[in-house]
Amino acid sequence: MPPTSQRTRHFTESVIRRMTRIANGCGAINLSQGFPDFDPPPALLAAAERAGRQGPHQYAVTWGAANFRQAFARKQARFMGIPIDPDANVVVTCGSTEAMMAAMLTACNPGDRVVIFSPFYENYTADTILTGAVPVYVPLRPPAFDFDPAELRRAFEQHRPKALILCNPANPTGKVFTRAELELIAALAQEFDAFVITDEVYEHIVYAPHAHTYIAALPGMFERTISCSSLSKTYSITGWRLGTVVAAPAVLDVVRKVHDFLTVGAAAPLQEAAVTALEFPDAYYEELRSAYTAKRELFLGWLDRAGLRYSRPQGAYYVMVDVGEFAVTDDVTFCDWLAREIGVAAVPGSSFFREPVRNLVRLHFAKKADTLNAAGERLLCLREKAAHRG
Ligand code: GLN
Repeated sequence: MPPTSQRTRHFTESVIRRMTRIANGCGAINLSQGFPDFDPPPALLAAAERAGRQGPHQYAVTWGAANFRQAFARKQARFMGIPIDPDANVVVTCGSTEAMMAAMLTACNPGDRVVIFSPFYENYTADTILTGAVPVYVPLRPPAFDFDPAELRRAFEQHRPKALILCNPANPTGKVFTRAELELIAALAQEFDAFVITDEVYEHIVYAPHAHTYIAALPGMFERTISCSSLSKTYSITGWRLGTVVAAPAVLDVVRKVHDFLTVGAAAPLQEAAVTALEFPDAYYEELRSAYTAKRELFLGWLDRAGLRYSRPQGAYYVMVDVGEFAVTDDVTFCDWLAREIGVAAVPGSSFFREPVRNLVRLHFAKKADTLNAAGERLLCLREKAAHRG
């Protein structure tokens, strides 16, 4: 009998979470795993205190507490511009991570093909493999990270995929898909009868003049789109693990069952508290956008001063920085060095790419101005220290 480690499934760990552990271990400023170092809105914290005292403390309805779903459906219908029925179209999950997994298990059977744009957030490959499906990668080419429509069509013709995963605004590139690009994807999904599974957790973090378009709201797409999102980024509560799935009733019926067996449900007191956030007026989202616009300008300013080349993000809070000039052969070793010697933790770009890309690292700017300034000061030393690295 072989040792148990040889009988388990082979699975690699998350590079993003590994970088957070390295940052914590060496005291680096953590610009790797994307989460804020500032507090959620005070009204939301007050609601969490109330829910802590008053409950509920037992299971909510497995697909989400009724008042959460009602508040979410109102808010989401406002932004998506389509009606959302809180009973027929919504499941509340443990973060968008579970939402995506539930969506994949809903749409795919083992052996099905799934189109993933590369670079991609690392969970998509893991989710596809855990589902037993097979990833088919289509590149988004720098600097604009556009896809070649002919290449996407070829992927559909050749592989007849069951689903396409769309991260919009995109992690890690900050790309915001235009309406024309989404129409092209929608047309292929309809022609080849595929699902579109979205990850739209950065839906409210989009920089002017760019605007977010929900693919589910395009004509004929609601029936075949499983829209996943989360409250994590919008309300700065990544640790609350509150995510959402929006889908047509027949699809949602399966999502509910998958979700029930995966987790039973998201935290009941946190759903109760989050109703307060879901009822925030439009001004909240405008302020969020301008706060992140200021962070982007501040941080990109530091990258400019440090003489670093990068792709300007249109949405989300990541920036891909080209570190090829530092003659790195391996971005993983470079990121370890950056964390230990410069004191800034980044994610090696290769973890996002299917292609052999070794010259990019991802940094994020969902941090207080003080933190971004401290990281910026450190990055100013990068060129000099890299020269003496030996
Ligand atoms: N989405 C965030 C990132 O890309 C956080 C991922 C996570 O660790 N759940 O860094």
